Amino acid sequence: VQAVAAYFDEAARLLDLDEDTREVLGSSYREVAVQVPVRLDSGDLTVVRGYRVQHNGARGPYKGGVRFHPSADLDEVRALASLMTWKTALLDLPFGGAKGGVEVDPTGMTRDEVQRMTRRYTRSIHHVLGVYRDIPAPDVNTDAQVMAWMLDEFSLLHGYSPAIVTGKPVAFGGAPGRESATGRGAVEVLAALCRHLGVDLRGQRVAIQGFGQVGSWAARALVEKGATVVAVSDVHGGVVRPEGLDVDALVGLVAGGGSVVEAVGRDGIEAVGNPELLELDVDVLVPAALGPVVTDANADRIRARIVVEGANHPTTPSGDKILADRGVIVVPDILANAGGVTGSYFEWTQNIQQFTWKEERFLAELADRLSGAYQATQRFADDEGVTLRTAAFALGVRRVAEAVRLRGYV
Ligand code: NAD
Repeated sequence: VQAVAAYFDEAARLLDLDEDTREVLGSSYREVAVQVPVRLDSGDLTVVRGYRVQHNGARGPYKGGVRFHPSADLDEVRALASLMTWKTALLDLPFGGAKGGVEVDPTGMTRDEVQRMTRRYTRSIHHVLGVYRDIPAPDVNTDAQVMAWMLDEFSLLHGYSPAIVTGKPVAFGGAPGRESATGRGAVEVLAALCRHLGVDLRGQRVAIQGFGQVGSWAARALVEKGATVVAVSDVHGGVVRPEGLDVDALVGLVAGGGSVVEAVGRDGIEAVGNPELLELDVDVLVPAALGPVVTDANADRIRARIVVEGANHPTTPSGDKILADRGVIVVPDILANAGGVTGSYFEWTQNIQQFTWKEERFLAELADRLSGAYQATQRFADDEGVTLRTAAFALGVRRVAEAVRLRGYV
């Protein structure tokens, strides 16, 4: 939470942003907190808190995911909303930034309970949502089905509105390509970075922490581009094979409800712990799970030369500083995982036009936007002599500051 504010402050200093603009960009436009009563299957009632924070909408409708998590309190949702503002601006998408959350652990709830909670939350915040006002998407513990329920609930109140949420099931207004967009996007950025460094992505050895939507698609895209995925993990632990893992087989294991650790023992695959995976002797490390995992406690032991942040804020500011001092290139989250919101933008435009794209078009546009954003970030970093993270934040903040000025707010 403090990390996002620290990165904003650094960008503001670099841009020499005036006090008035800092004040506008440093706080959120609207913060809605609601009571969400949920009737459990047992007949008991549980009352949880729900939030929707709209950080800044100067560049377009608010956009950002909804997470169901016990730590999704107002502070966290507020920080994540501002991160979305800088991310959509960096990618030059016509959106502002928002985030939603319900402070709850949904893992012990039944699907019926989650559905009732989703509908109640949607009903409580529907007045601040809208196709041109605020468009939610999935995030931690919310998925395409949850988006389908949100769309249905919103449509009961406002009429059929497929563009009100993104990340929907393909059979219900979703866009082919969206599911893979975040993982593929991270790999497109890495490919562009490798071209810049004069390094061949083919043969690069990669370790990926987290094998969910982001990590597993990043793994598939890496293999397609000829890289070698030597280690992956999930919440149960990791697997490593120095000659490279059979990613499709691991995807099959996980799709069947299993864990990657079930592959230990096959084909010379060995077990590796999640903390040890981060320190393997690889060229590229992709943190794609949850929470801060690269900190001042382990940053000096990371052996990868490139870290691609598939997850949101996997690196603490102190860990980040150690990596920078050691010359490790960090592709920051707001660039590395921006394929998700870029894919959401494509889904939204298709819904509005009632016109569907083929997946090839989706993936080609995605690659184009992400490599373009990387190039702009690299150019800024080179010109100013700063890291890719500082450059990415500064580019995002600068675009929002300009829109705020043009609107006459400051
Ligand atoms: P997911 O739930 O599909 O997958 C998470 C993966 O991490 C799973 O394999 C899980 O087992 C593993 N994991 C969870 N806790 C772990 C732990 N403590 N140690 C090791 N592994 C652990 O989630 P996702 O959609 O892939 O999202 C991953 C990260 O990427 C999150 O930080 C999310 O905010 C971020 N992100 C996702 C998207 C998207 O489009 N899905 C977009 C932008 C950012």
